[in-house]
Amino acid sequence: MSLRDIIIHPDPRLKKLCAPVADITPDLQRLADDMLQTMYAAPGIGLAAPQVGELKRLIVMDCVKKEGDPPRPMVLFNPEVTWSSEETNVYEEGCLSIPDQYADVERPAEVRVSWIDQTGTPQEEQFDGLWATCVQHEIDHLNGKLFIDYLRPLKRQLITRKMVKLKREKARL
Ligand SMILES: [Zn+2]
Repeated sequence: MSLRDIIIHPDPRLKKLCAPVADITPDLQRLADDMLQTMYAAPGIGLAAPQVGELKRLIVMDCVKKEGDPPRPMVLFNPEVTWSSEETNVYEEGCLSIPDQYADVERPAEVRVSWIDQTGTPQEEQFDGLWATCVQHEIDHLNGKLFIDYLRPLKRQLITRKMVKLKREKARL
C-alpha cells in the first residue's frame, strides 16, 4: 500500500464525470487500499477516486467516530443512491480537497445506496446520520460536484480564492 497525493481544489480533475468500473481488477483493489490508507492518514472519513486523480466511480469511507469502536473501512465501486428520505439533515461539511474550510450543507437525512464491494459482490445498505452525509458527499465527487457547489456564489468564490492562494504557497515550498 502507498499514500497518494490528494488533489486540491480548484483542479479540472475534480469537475469531471467519472466512469463506471467494469471489473474489480487487482489494480483497482490496490487503488482502493491506497485510498483507505490515504484517507486514514489525512485524517478523513471519506475519499473519492478523482481526489487522487483517478476518474473512476470508486469511493472509500469510515465514519466510525467513537473512541474504542472498531473501524469500519468501506470500499464502494459504482455507488448509486437508490432512495433518499424527504427528511433532511444539516451537517458542517469539509473536504480533503478543500483543506480547513467548513460549511453547513443540507442533504437527505437517510439514503439507500447500492454498490459493488472489493470482492465484486453487489451490496445495498441504508445509511443515516454522518454516514448518509458522507456517502452523498463522496458520490457527488464522482459527478464532478463539491460541497462548496451548494453554497452561495460569494462564499464559494471566497473559499476558491483561499485555495488558489494555498496552492501558490505550496508550490513555492
Ligand atoms: Zn470531499
